[in-house]
Amino acid sequence: MTTIAIIGAGLAGTTLANSLSDRAAVRVFEKSRGIGGRMATRYAGIFEFDHGAQYFSVRTEAFRQSLQPLIANGIVSEWNGKVVSLSANNGATQIERSDPIYVASPRMNALPKHLADGLDVNVRCEIANVVPSNNGQWQLVDSEGGTHGPFDWVVSAAPSVQTSRLLPESISFAGHLTSVQMAGCFSVLLGFDERPDVDWEGAKVTDSPIGWIAVNSEKPGRKSSPSVIVQTTNAWAEENLERDPDEVSQIIMDELTQLTGIDVGNAKHNSRHRWRYAHTPVPAGNDCLIDKGARLAACGDWCIGGRVEHAFTSAKALAAQLPV
Ligand code: FAD
Repeated sequence: MTTIAIIGAGLAGTTLANSLSDRAAVRVFEKSRGIGGRMATRYAGIFEFDHGAQYFSVRTEAFRQSLQPLIANGIVSEWNGKVVSLSANNGATQIERSDPIYVASPRMNALPKHLADGLDVNVRCEIANVVPSNNGQWQLVDSEGGTHGPFDWVVSAAPSVQTSRLLPESISFAGHLTSVQMAGCFSVLLGFDERPDVDWEGAKVTDSPIGWIAVNSEKPGRKSSPSVIVQTTNAWAEENLERDPDEVSQIIMDELTQLTGIDVGNAKHNSRHRWRYAHTPVPAGNDCLIDKGARLAACGDWCIGGRVEHAFTSAKALAAQLPV
């Protein structure tokens, strides 16, 4: 059986592994301690936060169909929460939704975790190098110096910058990798005793460093005590990526109070996360990238755009094209 190493256990890596597992021997390597990548969940005692992807939409028939069984078994739920457009000058106006939006339940990482169920996933294993082995095969070297393989194929499902560092410069799609631009985001995570006094569950914010606020604990299936997620715009994050993290949090919390009246002083939990690569303003422009001669490939949202569905579509495209 063909052996395949997949670097990264986000939605792209787990979708690919799941799609290939009946026709290849697949091993997944993930540097974090858990599965999910940017479909991320932070656990903090009685609080849980989706501090990466907030929800997802469905534009393609393939994604719609693949979600049907997941909706049926409760791993994915439609989110009917009230979402408003919010600005300091104009207040809150409800956004009428034309298409449904979805979340994984009971937390965002439930979907990639479900896809990875029963597969060979090595967490806390950061791959530092992909090196040639005998017979055109590849070995992985992790950050502790451990080796894994050999493998017939190596696929990077890590963000484009990390993929660029991992795969050899001579790869046929090197130009695509370097053309991609990804942008950052800051998330502030707040936990409260009582639900904050706002009459919505999500707010798209305009004219502010903040781009999005959610009463996260009110998404379907959540059992967390009241939790709020605040995320900056990508543009603001890019300008402030290297700024002192305490200063960044303070700006975001002051802005939150000004916009919503939420008293951050009451928060029982207060933490933050800096995403260096959150969204993809300039994608690779190919559904996936493959060098059949070298037997190296890459997939991820950044191939197509910056959304959950793009990660799925990219992985499915690669699964269809890999000659295994
Ligand atoms: P990732 O989820 O990034 O997975 C890549 C994985 O590779 C990670 O787990 C990483 O740890 C691992 N990795 C990297 N380097 C290595 C290495 N050297 N060795 C081992 N493992 C490695 N999308 C939406 O559709 N709707 C939203 O509302 C939305 N909001 C978002 C908000 C934020 C703050 C962020 C960050 C993203 C948001 N997104 C949203 C985007 C969405 O999360 C992504 O499109 C999707 O999760 C990308 O999946 P992926 O598998 O391609 O990449």
